[in-house]
Amino acid sequence: MHAEVINPATEDIIATVEMLDEARTEHAVRRASAAMNTWRSISAADRARLLQRFALAVEADMENLAQLETRNCGHTLNNSRFTLRKIVDCMLFYAGAAERLIGKQIPVDGGINITFHEPVGVVAVIAPWNFPLMIAVWGMMPALAAGNVVILKPSELTPLTTLRLVELATEAGLPDNVVQVVTGTGPAVGQTLLDHSDVGKVVFTGSTAVGRTVMTSAARNLKRVTLELGGKSANIVFADADLKAAAEAAPMGVFDNAGQDCCARSRLLVQRSVIDEFIELLVPAVRSVVVGDPTHADTHVGPLISATHRERVSAFLADKPQIVVQADIPEGPGYWFPPTVIRSDDGRAPTATQEIFGPVVTVIPFDDDDDAVRIANDTTYGLAGSIWTRDIGQALRTARRIEAGNLSINSNSAVRYQAPFGGFKQSGIGRELGPDAALEFTETKSVYISTA
Ligand code: NAD
Repeated sequence: MHAEVINPATEDIIATVEMLDEARTEHAVRRASAAMNTWRSISAADRARLLQRFALAVEADMENLAQLETRNCGHTLNNSRFTLRKIVDCMLFYAGAAERLIGKQIPVDGGINITFHEPVGVVAVIAPWNFPLMIAVWGMMPALAAGNVVILKPSELTPLTTLRLVELATEAGLPDNVVQVVTGTGPAVGQTLLDHSDVGKVVFTGSTAVGRTVMTSAARNLKRVTLELGGKSANIVFADADLKAAAEAAPMGVFDNAGQDCCARSRLLVQRSVIDEFIELLVPAVRSVVVGDPTHADTHVGPLISATHRERVSAFLADKPQIVVQADIPEGPGYWFPPTVIRSDDGRAPTATQEIFGPVVTVIPFDDDDDAVRIANDTTYGLAGSIWTRDIGQALRTARRIEAGNLSINSNSAVRYQAPFGGFKQSGIGRELGPDAALEFTETKSVYISTA
């Protein structure tokens, strides 16, 4: 069976990709298990060198990959190029991790214990469609560095850059089947990976609803899981903040990638005493957002991923919420949706409580810091958020009280590959990225040596 891959900015079919069935997915797992012996037998220094070569192969192909990601996902080309640079940096960072899996020596009665970090085995990385290549790399690189082999399962909507990534792994000289890609649907391919007893760990990035299925399936054979799920992040603006800077940054804090970002700051909490002034500054900032052809240098926001997703996002506006401002969208083909600001004084509008995964933000007033924290935490999610204030004490006190894994102060961007990333509450389990990510793909083994 094959599936058509669509450019969401033009609605053109740009590729057809094979959809594997359960049997073909099982073969991939068997090939991965066999490749484990080869990969483990390579010294840490040589593994690091191979992973560096892999990173450099991606760097050499960066423009092609950026163009492909833009065609397949609708990211602006500026954004894809920026992301590709970060991907290469991230790959180089984790190439080095292969040589930094350092155990401990622990004095004990009668001798000494030493610890080793052993690879988990076959790791499956199941990715969503919003940042396919970046999310594949975040899971894949620390897993490989720690001596695991990896099977990548991209979304059926966005497989193209992941397919190219695996070609580059081969070109860089990684042994056969150390990195594989299996294209297909969640219920066929994804579920087979989850059910297979030879898959030791699954890194799943996607919706909270599917995340629950993943965890249930993984529980059957106690597979290790990292879950990176949905979000409904708050962007909190205190009255003493640089309101102009906060208002100018707020639109792209949620509309970037057409709002299809798990960390999108889709609730804009503004202190009541300055909310009118803030909205006056916000409206022109939203009107200046350019939606359109993602390959144009001046475009800020591209299309949504699919017609189905656009219907889902549109449904949030069906019951006529109080719209503050909307940006323009182009006419003609493409799954466009206007960046939209909504106001909800009680914070109970569906746009204020549910993950929309589109370019829609709801402005909600708050009275004081307790009120801001109460509203920000009044969600089952806990992924990201921002705090805007000139009072660093206020900023840090608030940051400590927000139930979310990734916060930024006077900025809407918190994700850096050098620092841990992941969610509180129903936004996920475990952490990716940061200096310790490779350890998440290991089992710690303790060996006692008698000195008697
Ligand atoms: P999704 O949950 O529908 O799908 C994610 C992946 O899971 C896809 O590859 C899909 O084919 C696969 N899948 C579906 N059913 C499966 C099953 N039964 N077993 C195994 N795999 C299955 O998510 P999506 O619509 O592709 O992406 C959007 C969601 O991803 C949003 O909720 C967003 O917040 C979330 N997301 C989270 C992060 C994060 O780091 N926390 C990052 C990006 C996206």
